Amino acid sequence: MNNIEARKTLLRRQTELAHRLSAVEADLQKTHSKDWDEQAQERENDEVLEAIASQTANELLQIKRVLHKLGDHSSYGVCKRCGQAIGKQRLSVIPETELCVGCANDTH
Ligand SMILES: [Zn+2]
Repeated sequence: MNNIEARKTLLRRQTELAHRLSAVEADLQKTHSKDWDEQAQERENDEVLEAIASQTANELLQIKRVLHKLGDHSSYGVCKRCGQAIGKQRLSVIPETELCVGCANDTH
């Protein structure tokens, strides 16, 4: 996966997540039923929705960080420690990594 492909994938994912987040937030803002039983059910649903919303927001932040790095062509894909290329295979698995496999495994 090259930088342009990685960027496209991340942008698509970002759009999906942003849509999901606004849909969940809209659901959370719906007025609640006047029926007590229904209200209890709705509160349970709200807890699930809130969990989804915070997970989605976290994922969006992560994507934003990676996109920022991708925009900086001079440093993306280059090991922060030894300056060697990190390698396409490693980047496709961990796009946010800043170390090559050698440095990541070097505990000294
Ligand atoms: Zn390295």
